[in-house]
Amino acid sequence: MTQRIAVVTGASGGLGETMCKAMVDQGHKVAGSYLPGTDTDAKEWQQAMQAAGYEVAIYPLDVTDYDNCCSFIAAVEKELGSIDVLVNNAGITRDAPLKRMQPQQWQDVLRTNLDSMYNMCQPVFDAMCSRGFGRIVNISSLNGEQGQFGQANYSAAKAGIYGFTKAIAKEGARKGVTVNAVSPGFINTPMVRQIPENVLESIVAGIPVGRLGQPEEIARAVAFLTAEEAGYITGTNLSVNGGEYMS
Ligand code: NAP
Repeated sequence: MTQRIAVVTGASGGLGETMCKAMVDQGHKVAGSYLPGTDTDAKEWQQAMQAAGYEVAIYPLDVTDYDNCCSFIAAVEKELGSIDVLVNNAGITRDAPLKRMQPQQWQDVLRTNLDSMYNMCQPVFDAMCSRGFGRIVNISSLNGEQGQFGQANYSAAKAGIYGFTKAIAKEGARKGVTVNAVSPGFINTPMVRQIPENVLESIVAGIPVGRLGQPEEIARAVAFLTAEEAGYITGTNLSVNGGEYMS
C-alpha cells in the first residue's frame, strides 16, 4: 500500500471523523482541520482518536477564507509532506424557506459549502498535476441533487459542487488527478439527529432501504474514490442515499 498524505476538512464532524479513520486505515498520513477558536475541543478530539488507535494531525482552518486555506496547506505540507488526497467535507446548513432567508444565511452557506471548493483545491491542484497523482473528493448532498424545501442556499451550493468537480476533473484528467463528488443521503449524524423526530420518521419512511445511512457507509465511498486503483473514475458523483434519489 502506498502511503499518501490525506487531508479531511471538518475532521471532527459526524462524517469527517469516520473519513479520517478510513484514511488512516488506508495507510495514509492524515491531517484534519478544526474551526479556529475551538482549540481545546480539537485537542480533546485528537486525543480520543489517538486512544482509539487513529493518529490524525490537526490544524485550525476556516474554509471560507482563501488565505487561511493557503496557510493551512503550507503548514500540512511542511510537517507531513505534499498533499495527495483532499476530501472537502466541511459544510454547514442555515435553513429557511426563501421568503424568510436572509442574505447572511445565503452567503454563509455558499461560502462554506461552495467557495471552500475553490479555496482548498486551487492551492493544491497544480502541484498534484505536476507530481502526476491526486485524489480529490468533494462532499455534496442528496439535497444538491434533488433540491430541498427550506434549503435553497444549501441545495444551490451542493449542486454547484457538481459543475466545479466536472470542470477540474477535465483539467486534471491527463495528469493523474481525479476529482469526484460523493452525495450522502440522510446519515445518522448530529446534523440529521437535530431534525424533529416526527419529521425524521417520515424521512426514513421515504428511504427505500428503510433506515438512515451510517457514517462508515460514506467513508467507504470516499476510500473507494481515493484509492490508487481508482484512477479511471473522474468527474463523477457517487450517491450514497439508500435509494432515496436515483439519477
Ligand atoms: P457536521 O457534523 O456539522 O460537521 C461539519 C464539519 O465542518 C465540522 O467539523 C465543522 O466544524 C466544519 N466546519 C463548518 N464550517 C467550517 C468552516 N468555515 N471552516 C472549516 N470547517 C468548518 O456535519 P456532517 O454531518 O459531518 O457533514 C459533513 C459534510 O457532509 C457536510 O459537507 C454536509 O453538508 C455533508 N452532508 C451530510 C449529511 C448528513 O446526513 N449528515 C448528508 C448530506 C451531506 P465545527 O464542528 O467546529 O463547527
